[in-house]
Amino acid sequence: MNPSTALDPHFGQHWTEGMLATFAVEAARLGELDRLSGDGDFGRNLTAAYARVDQEITSAGPTVYREWLTCVSRGFLGTGGTSGPLFGMFFRELARCAEGDEPTLEELARGLAAGLATVQRYGKAEVGHKTMVDAISPAVDALGAPGGSLRDAAEAAVRGARSTAPIIARRGRASYVGEASLGVLDPGAVAIALVIEAAAGAVDGSTAPADGSWVGSGD
Ligand code: ADP
Ligand code: MG
Repeated sequence: MNPSTALDPHFGQHWTEGMLATFAVEAARLGELDRLSGDGDFGRNLTAAYARVDQEITSAGPTVYREWLTCVSRGFLGTGGTSGPLFGMFFRELARCAEGDEPTLEELARGLAAGLATVQRYGKAEVGHKTMVDAISPAVDALGAPGGSLRDAAEAAVRGARSTAPIIARRGRASYVGEASLGVLDPGAVAIALVIEAAAGAVDGSTAPADGSWVGSGD
């Protein structure tokens, strides 16, 4: 795919619908990961964000990528936990990345990199601290590489999310439980990997839930 060509005319809509479908299927399992390694509110936060995104869509009536992703961003910004604002700012950077109605692959790569920078500016997490950064950072590298596709980015994000299992959290509430987080996937990293999988599906027009078959407790 030419990195300077805009993606499918309904990419923003398909991505949004695909990620909402994913959250509907996976929220309980992601909440369980947070219960094992943090304070257990992640599933509830995600479900609340989902409902808010739905309301934003109903009231704003988005038609182009920037508007769809802005609904996602606003839904998360209005949600609690650490992940709500961080996801909200991450999606705000992604919403801003497109000049035209739908983004090019190059614009998305820049948007993803800007999203990572914002999450790190506010959250101060580095790769290896067992957070969403562990999934976002490798996705940025994969999408920014010559010839990089969203499928490559999704695979890199899944590998990054899986790499969070054998480490102790250094940021967020999971860092309060020390060794109890060992062996458990970081729910924020898993959520990001699923979001990028949904983006890879949306390139082909899919709004189906992302494949979460790789999400176990971590081994
Ligand atoms: P809380 O930690 O306040 O209970 P949530 O349960 O809503 O927040 O979200 C937990 C997720 O947020 C973690 O899985 C992790 O990926 C992410 N997270 C927590 N702290 C940070 C941080 N400082 N930087 C980046 N991501 C973070
Ligand atoms: Mg939590």
